[in-house]
Amino acid sequence: MRSFLPEYEVEAPARLEGALELLEQGWRPLAGGTDIMVLLESGRLADRRFAGLWNLGDLRGIREEGGMVSIGALVTFTELRESRPIRERFPLLAASAAVTGCIATQNRGTLGGNIGNASPAGDSLPVLLVYDAQLELVCRGGVRRVPYCHFHLGYKQMDLRAGELISRILLPAGRQGWHECFRKVGARAAQAISKVSMAAAARTVDGRIEDFRLAYASMAPVPLRCWRTEEILRGARPGCLPELPDETSPIDDLRSTARYRRQVARNLLLRFLAGIE
Ligand SMILES: Cc1cc2nc3c(=O)[nH]c(=O)nc-3n(C[C@H](O)[C@H](O)[C@H](O)COP(=O)(O)OP(=O)(O)OC[C@H]3O[C@@H](n4cnc5c(N)ncnc54)[C@H](O)[C@@H]3O)c2cc1C
Repeated sequence: MRSFLPEYEVEAPARLEGALELLEQGWRPLAGGTDIMVLLESGRLADRRFAGLWNLGDLRGIREEGGMVSIGALVTFTELRESRPIRERFPLLAASAAVTGCIATQNRGTLGGNIGNASPAGDSLPVLLVYDAQLELVCRGGVRRVPYCHFHLGYKQMDLRAGELISRILLPAGRQGWHECFRKVGARAAQAISKVSMAAAARTVDGRIEDFRLAYASMAPVPLRCWRTEEILRGARPGCLPELPDETSPIDDLRSTARYRRQVARNLLLRFLAGIE
């Protein structure tokens, strides 16, 4: 670990067009810097030119747009935690923001940065999967939208083209009557990267699971949506479960072991299912 920062250059354009021009020339987006500065200081980042995003109003705010709730990529965890519409309509997002790092990290760290950092341990990421998020990606050539479930292609690999920026995160509005749960298991209650995080949501009708969503962090090289488990659980009764597949591929690392992670991930799911009986 180095205790000094190498020299680097930052430009923070006032307009989106200016930022996109810099990205096209190979500058790297810099939002809250809570990941980038750690990497830079530890000598693990080759980039030295950063396009500061903080002046870009297009990437801010939480608003309703065409049946979706649109969250700017620069919205911080503190803003998510404190936003009434988010707390009421997407409680798992507020819950995951509230256990991300410490208050200082929540004040600076952004939702767009959590996605752009592409860590399989990112706490907001299983939540975005369960809420069927879409991403709005912008470059000088225009805007495109991708389902978030297709965005992470492999460990730290994303469907983000050169010169592109995550501008907004879109969540389908109108979820009512769902049981929802976000659980993070780490070494401590605060300021810990997850050993396992789980986001789950279920809609039941007459004691049967009508619809189900399940996603994990730290259980695969990418934030993991468990499509097969969801399929098997649709139509099941929570008190009489079919055999559930194991779709995870966790690793042993300094935070935990694969065996522990598998067991905890299963326990979290079973506890959630027991709670919706
Ligand atoms: C002490 C500490 C504790 C932490 N605890 C947690 C935790 O508990 N859970 C957790 O999930 N994370 C944690 N983190 C990691 C970090 O805070 C989050 O990943 C945060 O969301 C990063 O956001 P940022 O705005 O600071 O990103 P930055 O550091 O500015 O950028 C992160 C990456 O995303 C890219 N990027 C940023 N914005 C965009 C954009 N709009 N479009 C495209 N790419 C973009 C950057 O180029 C960079 O590669 C912690 C970090 C620290 C330092």
